[in-house]
Amino acid sequence: MSYKVLLFYKYVNVNKPEQIIGEHLNWCMANDIRGRVFFATEGINGTVSGKNENIEKYKIYLTSFPEFKNIWLKEDEAMENSFRKMQVRLKNEIVHGNLENVSVKNGGKRLTPEGLLKFYKENKEFVIVDARNWYESKIGKFRNAVTPPMKNFREWKKVVGEKLSDYKNKTVVTYCTGGIRCEKASAYMVEKGFKDVYQLEGGISNFIKKFPDTYWEGGMFVFDERRVVNPNLKEEIKHIAKCSFCGKPTSYYINCHNVDCDKIIVSCHECKVSSEYCCSDECRASENKRKTFHG
Ligand SMILES: [Zn+2]
Ligand SMILES: [Zn+2]
Repeated sequence: MSYKVLLFYKYVNVNKPEQIIGEHLNWCMANDIRGRVFFATEGINGTVSGKNENIEKYKIYLTSFPEFKNIWLKEDEAMENSFRKMQVRLKNEIVHGNLENVSVKNGGKRLTPEGLLKFYKENKEFVIVDARNWYESKIGKFRNAVTPPMKNFREWKKVVGEKLSDYKNKTVVTYCTGGIRCEKASAYMVEKGFKDVYQLEGGISNFIKKFPDTYWEGGMFVFDERRVVNPNLKEEIKHIAKCSFCGKPTSYYINCHNVDCDKIIVSCHECKVSSEYCCSDECRASENKRKTFHG
């Protein structure tokens, strides 16, 4: 395989991010790096893909900025570019959660994948909470996880107040895809008086790379062309979601191709084709459908 997907983020003071973005975009275009990178005064967050040698160059470029010297990076191999375009944007928050005033300094204690494995193996009493959206946890989750029905991360404050307040005096572990959402999700819980909060270091992607076929069940939803990463070989935990048309176990999803609907549909490959990439007759009949099949 000659392509890589690179995930990275860092909460760090960035001076005048608006002055960095143009040059960053130009560099990426010139080196055929695709994906998205968000800058804010609170840090950087990105997922990019490219040929191995270009990703190597990008890592050198990125870490040449003093702020990003020790940035957390994660690499996955890929068959092709996982993105079609390159975007570099200026944001208020590197993950939109209306948590501007929450300090990552208050974040939960870092729990390594080894640490979480030990919690499970020793039957420790703990509550594991999914800090992702409902459609992400539908495809896959940790064993016994609490999966709040969040539409997006901006609902986290509400979820903590309405769904998690019973766990204030328990040991709580939060997790998300790569760890970035948990920095503030766990900090917000600590600031709200939760006594013993951990955050899974490097997120699900770090855990499943080290310990597939253990306590992660189903696929991991990703926001790029790969759509889903399936780490498990054991049949019983390979897929936890079911095709919404035929009921067959699957981890796959598409967005309804009626642009006005765009609903996420869990679907096996056969049914997505036979349903013409739409959720209903109404959507199939729509005038406003995507021009090309995608997903
Ligand atoms: Zn099906
Ligand atoms: Zn639809």
